[in-house]
Amino acid sequence: MTAARYVALRCDGPDCYAETHHAFSDSMTVTELRATRSEDGWHARPGGRDICPDCWKAGHR
Ligand SMILES: [Zn+2]
Repeated sequence: MTAARYVALRCDGPDCYAETHHAFSDSMTVTELRATRSEDGWHARPGGRDICPDCWKAGHR
């Protein structure tokens, strides 16, 4: 068994219900987690909101 866990990210864009999941280990820091998510084109916004790649390109920030 691995210790990997999954975090669900939900897009906070208008009328957007995009979701993604990231596996991360307990040793992973929040900074590393954010780096992983930006590899997929997701962006973390202040206040804990997440924006999917499509909404980011559409200017919903
Ligand atoms: Zn979105």
